[in-house]
Amino acid sequence: MTDTGKTPSSGQYAFPRTQGTDVIVIGAGLAGLLAAAKAVRAGAKVRLIAQGWGQQIVTPGWISVCDRADDDVIAEVRGFAALHPDHPYALAGDDAVVRGLASFCRLAEEIGEPYEQRTKDGHNLRLITMLGAIQTPLAAPQGIAHGDLTGFSESLLLVGFNGWRDFYPEMAAGNLQQQGINARAIRVDLPAGARGWDLYPAELALLLDQVDARNMIIHQIKPHLSGVDKIGFPAVLGMDQHLEALSHLSEQLGRPCFEIPTLPPSLSGTRLSQKLRGWLLRRRARVQIGHPVLRGIMQERRCVGVEVGALGHNNIFHADHVILATGGLYNGGIQSDETGRLWEPVFNLPVMAPPGEGRSGWYEDRLLHEQGHPIHRLVGLRVDSCMRPLDASGAPMLENVYAVGHLLAGFNPLTDGCAEGIALATAYKAIATALGLKKI
Ligand SMILES: Cc1cc2nc3c(=O)[nH]c(=O)nc-3n(C[C@H](O)[C@H](O)[C@H](O)COP(=O)(O)OP(=O)(O)OC[C@H]3O[C@@H](n4cnc5c(N)ncnc54)[C@H](O)[C@@H]3O)c2cc1C
Repeated sequence: MTDTGKTPSSGQYAFPRTQGTDVIVIGAGLAGLLAAAKAVRAGAKVRLIAQGWGQQIVTPGWISVCDRADDDVIAEVRGFAALHPDHPYALAGDDAVVRGLASFCRLAEEIGEPYEQRTKDGHNLRLITMLGAIQTPLAAPQGIAHGDLTGFSESLLLVGFNGWRDFYPEMAAGNLQQQGINARAIRVDLPAGARGWDLYPAELALLLDQVDARNMIIHQIKPHLSGVDKIGFPAVLGMDQHLEALSHLSEQLGRPCFEIPTLPPSLSGTRLSQKLRGWLLRRRARVQIGHPVLRGIMQERRCVGVEVGALGHNNIFHADHVILATGGLYNGGIQSDETGRLWEPVFNLPVMAPPGEGRSGWYEDRLLHEQGHPIHRLVGLRVDSCMRPLDASGAPMLENVYAVGHLLAGFNPLTDGCAEGIALATAYKAIATALGLKKI
């Protein structure tokens, strides 16, 4: 038995091999979570191992599939993929884009965190950011999706909290007005018992799980409702009782209420992560958050297991298939140092890098370059249409390892507005291929 990564640590304990198809998913971002859930649904025994939660716990929570599409998003993806054969969408195929998103939305509904999209015409939503800009993802958590401004020409009220640092309704309303949207702002007092300025969003959300706290806010907003058609709040409307909080506020205020993403952390991403963990555990998947995978254990071109770091002694887990969903440079999936070296730490897979010596080719001259910087847009793993990582000659390196999500080369995560769609499409494709599922 040989290995690619680091040298074995002392005191490992190899868990006995379990019966049946085993899938190890490395990473608990959108890609890893969807891959794990899809494998569980297909009847596989699954172990998800992650150093920490993925980027969803700091993002706005929505799903960007192709933000720049003005019309039908999937038609735009299809056209774009036809022109860019190395883009992850082209490799995964448009079927995987559609099914990956549908699979995610079904799962989100099942765990009680429903996502919504404009099913009527397949266009992007038009959603408000905390700065009062408009972003155009395809799907969003229900509370955020209710803020869709498509065809909205009426009047918005944005509500913030006195003395709270994470949302500035006047700024958001001012910027919306400059875009011709009729918006004004008010602030209300925080619910009784809340710490002021540095109250964490999760603490505020837990307070707003309580009917009394919501009533206190409703009472303060009611005098300001004249001429208001829709009411936006920072995305802290409840943690465990989120949907109840949303409908309670909408009913009592007599207008649709919606959420605007705040500064990180993201509560919708936190709720999604926790509930997906529960869903996986109830289906007897193993979920280890807080553990790094140190290396793949190889037998020729097959990965037969992984070594996982833990206090005391490292553990070895065996599997038939491994999904590498480690998130690229932002989350440890690709690492770098001051010499400009870039490497993939688990399997030592080849990493596409910007041209030039050391770090000389990493950055453009201007900070806000329209294309972003080469270090963001040119770094990643190349894969084939089965999501298997390729070697320098373009041949698949390993038979049963699949790389997915932000880890991949071939797209610009900062400007393409499709990173979340890629996470879902490639995770879907990898599991469908690994498990030989017909529906792809
Ligand atoms: C603030 C912010 C806003 C964003 N907004 C948008 C947007 O509007 N539109 C858009 O398209 N994209 C956006 N993105 C990017 C997008 O959210 C991500 O590309 C996508 O969520 C990545 O998902 P992923 O599952 O591939 O990776 P990640 O979410 O990065 O997950 C990687 C996982 O791998 C784990 N991991 C890494 N190495 C190891 C290891 N050795 N062992 C075990 N675990 C490991 C990590 O702990 C983590 O769980 C945003 C990102 C951020 C941070």
